[in-house]
Amino acid sequence: MNTELLEKHLDLVIKANETTNITRIVSRETAEVLHIEDSLSALPEFEKAPAGLYGDLGSGAGFPGLPIAIETGRETILVESVKKKASLLESFVSELGLANVSVFPGRAEELALERKEQFAVLSARALSQLGSLLELGSPLLKVGGQFICYKARIEDEELKHACSLENKLGLKLVSDRNFLLSDGETYRRILVFEKFKNASIKLPRRNGMAQRNPL
Ligand code: SAH
Repeated sequence: MNTELLEKHLDLVIKANETTNITRIVSRETAEVLHIEDSLSALPEFEKAPAGLYGDLGSGAGFPGLPIAIETGRETILVESVKKKASLLESFVSELGLANVSVFPGRAEELALERKEQFAVLSARALSQLGSLLELGSPLLKVGGQFICYKARIEDEELKHACSLENKLGLKLVSDRNFLLSDGETYRRILVFEKFKNASIKLPRRNGMAQRNPL
């Protein structure tokens, strides 16, 4: 594990958080678990995913995107629509000296117009409900690509609904794993969806529709 870079990222986040509210951090100790450990908890899924470009949607302060980029060395794009957060992410990337990482300061829907079907792997943590996530991810993924979703406890309804969009979005559930983080209380569920065909509807829809007006 590249502990030095992972810790340095957290230092930068904690420092930035003193002046800008980018993420909820109670203490350094909990941040180690809830940010670094949690981000890296899906490494087995990333190892199984196809080689190629990786994108973290709604990256915020860079979780899970930066720890994953550090540990896997994949070519990575951190996607963040709030410009202030995106420019902080850019400063983190340059201070960490990560040549494999870049930042897209815009919405996932906008990136989908520029880099349609170019991603081998996507991730998202705490971005939105599964159906909306899959809609945002579908046009970005190439066929065979995978979307690694970091979820907390979810209602059966949310998963059932996401699975009902399988044919529309061309994404099917291929893996589902859940566990507790080392604090013994934070429940994490990692759901992986694979793009098995292109969507049958035109994507992306207008900015904001996937989240405001889900399919
Ligand atoms: N993934 C981070 C941040 C979660 S908060 C973490 O888990 O700590 C969700 C973030 O997604 C916010 O920073 C918000 O600005 C961004 N976001 C919301 N909708 C988006 C979209 N459609 N495209 C890109 N970023 C988006």
